[in-house]
Amino acid sequence: MITTSVIELDRTALANNLRFIKKYIHKRAKISSVVKGNAYGHGITEFVQLAESEGIDHFSVFSADEAEVVFKCKKPDTSIMIMGWLDNGQIEWAICNDIEFYIFDLNFVYETIKISKKVGKPAKVHIEVETGMNRTGFKKKSLVKLYKLINNNPECFDIKGFCTHYAGAESIANYVRIQKQRISFEKLYKETISKGIVPELKHTACSAAAMNYPGTCMDMVRIGIMQYGFWPSPETFIQYAQRKSQKTDPLKRVLRWKSKIMTIKEVKEGEFISYGTNYLAQEDKKIAIVPVGYSDGYSRVLSNQGKVIINETFADVIGLVNMNMMIVDITLTPNVKRGDEVVMIGKQGSLEISVNSFSAMSSTMNYELLVRLPESIERKIVN
Ligand SMILES: *Cc1c(COP(=O)(O)O)cnc(C)c1O
Repeated sequence: MITTSVIELDRTALANNLRFIKKYIHKRAKISSVVKGNAYGHGITEFVQLAESEGIDHFSVFSADEAEVVFKCKKPDTSIMIMGWLDNGQIEWAICNDIEFYIFDLNFVYETIKISKKVGKPAKVHIEVETGMNRTGFKKKSLVKLYKLINNNPECFDIKGFCTHYAGAESIANYVRIQKQRISFEKLYKETISKGIVPELKHTACSAAAMNYPGTCMDMVRIGIMQYGFWPSPETFIQYAQRKSQKTDPLKRVLRWKSKIMTIKEVKEGEFISYGTNYLAQEDKKIAIVPVGYSDGYSRVLSNQGKVIINETFADVIGLVNMNMMIVDITLTPNVKRGDEVVMIGKQGSLEISVNSFSAMSSTMNYELLVRLPESIERKIVN
């Protein structure tokens, strides 16, 4: 299928980012590549294959439906971990296919025991504990019940991990809260061990925690945003740069989003462009129509705000962004013709539109902008 825009995934950029992350974290820690949200918009199937070819053999997703997508394209020995939602009806599939999953709710554990007994196979589980984020995870009181359930049904469980998630490791303002979470985690871990339950891996760190609190890396890190080449927050990069007295960004963006010019036309001074009266040509203009609109994830907020790159020149988005098209000003862009490449995110020659600047223009954060890129856009691995 030929789609109106294409997302390219840069192999060398991913290899660079993984090398950087591995070097930075504790040698012992394994990397689990987080590919929830359609691999942060990069395309789960293409990204998993690319990451596997760069040595990744553990992927984390939010839900069982995402796990199914990874399951269909992964290599036989690659592991999958579900960090969130599994419907009761999906537990059997997960157990039978060695999919690891978080447990954080006793009712869900009762169901898991029932199904494990039925299929005659243990469930590979990660015990998630509540340490202060107040999202998912067992509190101390329900942990006591969990210990009993596990010890009374040892054949039903293969305890792969013991884990938690920090409530905002990307901001130093949360320092005290994170420290409390770390203490609480270690306490709960000791209690668990004292009940004879010994998890294979301890893991707590996302990208920001791994960077800002190296002690949180433990046996495994769950890396999402940084493998794609983005910092979890500007603050995290600044802190890293100050520690290393390094000004340049060691990460490289994996994603590049591009389209082509559909058609070109001239507009006379005094005419309005696109719907309504949002943009008035104050002089004679040359414009290009690009087949990308808000249905493709190019936010309407970027009307009269966005920029693209054509022929190594920035061009402004003018007028309202439509559902499937937008209009850009090429009055000052040299030698433009139908079919020329238009870059919405990424590099062309020496120019770059970063997701950061794009996010700033549309006032979203990196994470949100990326995951909004529709699944229907074609993804291609390059380099
Ligand atoms: C999303 C997520 C991660 C990865 O976070 P990044 O900031 O993208 O590295 C890690 N752990 C859990 C539980 C998550 O939900």
